Amino acid sequence: MSVRDIGIDVTKPAGTCSDAKCPFHGTLPVRGRVFKGEVISSLAAKSATVRWEFAQFVTKYERYARRNTKVVAYSPSCIGAKKGDIVRVAECRPLSKTKRFVVIEKVTAGEKK
Ligand SMILES: [Zn+2]
Repeated sequence: MSVRDIGIDVTKPAGTCSDAKCPFHGTLPVRGRVFKGEVISSLAAKSATVRWEFAQFVTKYERYARRNTKVVAYSPSCIGAKKGDIVRVAECRPLSKTKRFVVIEKVTAGEKK
């Protein structure tokens, strides 16, 4: 099966799948922003909750405050994101009520449970 070029410079997944919602082996277009975060939950099938931190400047105190963003992302089986993994997620079309992101790369694997 051919692997699509998603237009973002990431390592192609080692595995393969036959999922229409996979950006590499299906037809899902990715566009918009790309973030790197940690998978904090992967209990639901083909879903991963990804969280990342960023610093936001607070003018009143002239300091940075640590904030975080949590999104639910579609997790194609060829990447197989597990809790503890550091992954890259990309914005895509709404896939369900809560999913507007898709996991496009596993940067580092978390430790085995
Ligand atoms: Zn795939």
